[in-house]
Amino acid sequence: MDEELLVLRRKGMRLTPQRQAIYHYLKNTKSHPTAEEIFAALHPRFPGLSRGTVYNTLNMLVQEGLVRELRVDDTASRYDADTSQHHHATCQKCGRVTDYFGPSLDSLLREAESETGYRLESAELYFEGLCPACQASNNVAP
Ligand SMILES: [Zn+2]
Ligand SMILES: [Zn+2]
Repeated sequence: MDEELLVLRRKGMRLTPQRQAIYHYLKNTKSHPTAEEIFAALHPRFPGLSRGTVYNTLNMLVQEGLVRELRVDDTASRYDADTSQHHHATCQKCGRVTDYFGPSLDSLLREAESETGYRLESAELYFEGLCPACQASNNVAP
């Protein structure tokens, strides 16, 4: 079992093999998958897995701070088990999402706090454009 999940077990949460597999899958991919993609990837191994279980488990993991929910997509949330501070670049053509470990936004956050009076917890950047693969295919003459 992934170490991070032991925290949840200590809190008394039920960690079925399916739930463990969902977290494990997320932890081992950089693709920032949607719930549907996670379901499609795990269903062959867990024929009894339902979409409901995938959604419930993701909600639980987000609530417990083990997974980040990204709203880079209008149609579906994407999920990331890397909770360290980083930003995301999204390809407008193929939808690929790539991590960008750029500068911390802490100083910007402090500035925003003093200007708005809010106590702000986090900030992140979303970039949009064309990924390298789509740039390459764009350059090919039709
Ligand atoms: Zn692309
Ligand atoms: Zn990420």
